[in-house]
Amino acid sequence: MAPKLQRADYHVAWIAPVSDLELLPSRLMLDEEHKTPDYDISYDNNIYTFRTIAGHNVVIATCLPGLTGNINTGRVIGSMFKTFSNLRIALLVGIGGGIPRAYPSADPTEDVHVGDVVVGWPGDGGPACVYYNSGKWHTDKPFEPRGIIDKPDRKFTFPGLDKDLLFQALYPYKGPNHNQCGQCDRSELIRRPARTANDNAEFIFYHGRVATGNAVIKDGQRRDQIRELCKDALCIEMEAAGVDASGRCLVIRGISDYADSHKDDIWRSYAAGQAAVFARELLRKIPGATVRGMEIQQITMHPASLPKRDGMPSGPDVSIHRLMGSEQKSLPWEGTHPEQAPMNNAETSQRSE
Ligand SMILES: [Zn+2]
Repeated sequence: MAPKLQRADYHVAWIAPVSDLELLPSRLMLDEEHKTPDYDISYDNNIYTFRTIAGHNVVIATCLPGLTGNINTGRVIGSMFKTFSNLRIALLVGIGGGIPRAYPSADPTEDVHVGDVVVGWPGDGGPACVYYNSGKWHTDKPFEPRGIIDKPDRKFTFPGLDKDLLFQALYPYKGPNHNQCGQCDRSELIRRPARTANDNAEFIFYHGRVATGNAVIKDGQRRDQIRELCKDALCIEMEAAGVDASGRCLVIRGISDYADSHKDDIWRSYAAGQAAVFARELLRKIPGATVRGMEIQQITMHPASLPKRDGMPSGPDVSIHRLMGSEQKSLPWEGTHPEQAPMNNAETSQRSE
């Protein structure tokens, strides 16, 4: 029988803004469901689910369908932190658009690809999330609002290396909608080292800056401008400003497209699943007692405030070890450059089913 806890027992917030895409993998990652604790629903009309993962009591919140974005997510978070006043850390878990490097690296694992994960943690003392003014760019088309996903693909399978297409920023999509670049000219692809199946046997994530705004970006030139404006941001999304205000949130984004006109839906479910896997592995790495012992005000977007690896249990938790990388002494995002650490992808796919 599902246990029923008190509001004060919850220390971890997991925000999955897009209910029909990002909520499902978040629920699959969690060990045990709880009954809804007592709270005043006349002051808080959020949609919650309550779970345990690796000793953490986790509240999962999502936005109402179609009501995502920075402002709506901020409202959800505001109510959530009032109702669950013992929350210590928050994870914003979902998908985002990848921002490739300005100059490709010779190493295919050094540039963001679809299916990778970006964690909002630049490690340079600067902000993890930068709000850019979407009105700054003049375009011939109005911004498209994010709509509701009618038929979400509920399989988290890897779409295939041949579906990873990064075109020149100036080269627009050709042909009918939702044709998966069937008529786009492959000679317009950016020449960068291709990922191999071997590369993808590892779980690749980057820590860096996240650019957030109020519009879906489907323009390679604008994406590249945002990269410059936001100091080499690795990801573009639409909700981080809403949670960043709380000052105790880590943004975790699975890369589902390159924020250009070739953006389509085939990577969304896989990317959402990858982000949820990362979040779960992160929670497994941090003992519940450590989170409970945190002072709420200490949880800010500064590396020094999160627990160091020293003091972590050294059990047989291979996935945590791999997530960290065997040589790393600190948390994965505590560096100054985007980098990646290996994690077994076979394990990932098992968990994603
Ligand atoms: Zn295309």
